[in-house]
Amino acid sequence: MPVPSEEALSSSPFTALGLGRPIVQAVLEKGYTTPSPIQQQCIPAVLEGRDVMAAAQTGTGKTAGFTLPMLERLRHGAHARNNIVRALVLTPTRELAAQVGENVAAYSRHLDLRSDVVFGGVKVNPQMMRLRRGADVLVATPGRLMDLAQQNAVKLDRVEILVLDEADRMLDMGFIRDIQKILALLPPKRQNLLFSATFEASIKKLATGLLHNPVQLQATPENRTAATVEHVLHPCDMDRKPELLGHLIRSNDWQQVLVFSRTKHGANRIAERLTKEGIEAAAIHGNKSQGARTRALAGFKGGEVRVLVATDIAARGIDIHQLPHVVNLDLPNQAEDYVHRIGRTGRAGHSGHAVSLVAAEEHELLRAIERMIGNPLPRQAVPGFEPTVLSAPPLDLSGGRGRGGSRSGGGRSAAGAVAGGASRGRSQARPRSR
Ligand code: AMP
Repeated sequence: MPVPSEEALSSSPFTALGLGRPIVQAVLEKGYTTPSPIQQQCIPAVLEGRDVMAAAQTGTGKTAGFTLPMLERLRHGAHARNNIVRALVLTPTRELAAQVGENVAAYSRHLDLRSDVVFGGVKVNPQMMRLRRGADVLVATPGRLMDLAQQNAVKLDRVEILVLDEADRMLDMGFIRDIQKILALLPPKRQNLLFSATFEASIKKLATGLLHNPVQLQATPENRTAATVEHVLHPCDMDRKPELLGHLIRSNDWQQVLVFSRTKHGANRIAERLTKEGIEAAAIHGNKSQGARTRALAGFKGGEVRVLVATDIAARGIDIHQLPHVVNLDLPNQAEDYVHRIGRTGRAGHSGHAVSLVAAEEHELLRAIERMIGNPLPRQAVPGFEPTVLSAPPLDLSGGRGRGGSRSGGGRSAAGAVAGGASRGRSQARPRSR
């Protein structure tokens, strides 16, 4: 990797934000040239030592937004030792913890700081051994961190910076008690950064007890990426969805497809069925071991696994670039998850394709999604798979454009508008969907 020139380092906008040379060098080596909007706002605020409350989803560059200035602050202090943790990042899932950990390692590669990642589902002993030397940055899921704290494997009373990443997810997943226990172990004087996609009552309550005079930031995923997503809805009967999925993959020759299933059981079943049909597929969800999840993800990224079937929670935070196709085998229970799911495709200016297989029974879920994104999803019946079961009122095939227009809309025309609505994110749409 070529070392950035002195000129490139000193004229970088990351330097102008107040980051030091070794960090800017690592950022330039990652290939970033311009800070994202959330980074522009977050970096100076964190460097000033302020608490931050940020409405930011995955895809906004939030991880570098908190990590870069955190490293800048940490590099000027005394290093960690003896089980001491200096900066603590809590994340809801193992995948997100691993991913944030990789980012921290990449951004600190020219610094003499120790970072570590701990999560459940793997042996605790090696984690305990490593933590003896302390960690300047520890990325952790709440349950495992509590276990480690109870066994005195980590000392949290010297934490200088606390980050709660995807705080809404942590609350959704029932981590509030673990978080409260962890907070009780932290010193009162510290810097707090809270990132969440939504700011509903439970998050506001958590924020009130946690943050002191916070700088409030808001970021939405970049429109240029979301606008390239083409959405389409195929109405069909519930029991024919697996067959339709196989048909779509084969007839369109899709090579890399992320399929969302609402249940773990459903994810397993569909992966097994596709594999039997000769389409290489794997499932990832909370009941799979960490090793199995990592293998499935690596296979999918590497192209050996053509279809990855995931539950919403397992897929959360997976950062796969340029994913061409996302299929909703079931609609999500929470309308907001539709936005998260399609956020997996069409990133970084590449075009993406978001397909939803919708049965009459999902009529209400569909209405909630369409209300939230502010647009109907373009309908397109697949010949041979037209639904026979109708909802009451029947699932409107017109795509909200009046009767007689059934099977209209190949998706492309309305795609930009749908994506534009979706990319505005959960916080704006929420009041209407509740
Ligand atoms: P995040 O929202 O933190 O999950 O980041 C989304 C993706 O954007 C990640 O793949 C990052 O590596 C990438 N990224 C973060 N900051 C920048 C930047 N300033 N320029 C380009 N890509 C970035």
